[in-house]
Amino acid sequence: MTAEEIYNKINNIKTKDPETGEGVYIILRDLYYEHKENEAVLYIQTYFKCDEDTAKEVFLILKKRLFRPPPSPEQIALCNAAALAMKYTPHCPYCNSTNLHRITTLEKAADTVLFGVYGNTRKCQWHCYNCNSDF
Ligand SMILES: [Zn+2]
Repeated sequence: MTAEEIYNKINNIKTKDPETGEGVYIILRDLYYEHKENEAVLYIQTYFKCDEDTAKEVFLILKKRLFRPPPSPEQIALCNAAALAMKYTPHCPYCNSTNLHRITTLEKAADTVLFGVYGNTRKCQWHCYNCNSDF
């Protein structure tokens, strides 16, 4: 097999480690993230029964095309913060803006007084400053 052929096999999610059942790509990526390049090359050699030079070539292709450099702790923290913000920041369902104002009970009451049962912000919790909708 050529390095390119082996790369295509690794890139296929169906190529799994017979012992752990884990994707070969995942195994190699983890080894790369742990800076165990020699082990990764050896794994390719063993799995695909190729010589060392071919295995090294495969690993080079993998690095170039598949693997992204491991995330730094700062990047991870940033991602987590972004995920948290996404979770807890309400978005406008109409325009997806986060420029929102929470309608207080007092405002709701005022609206009811002015417009009676037809006041349309009564049941709404948020006002969007971007598209002026209440929801
Ligand atoms: Zn909006």
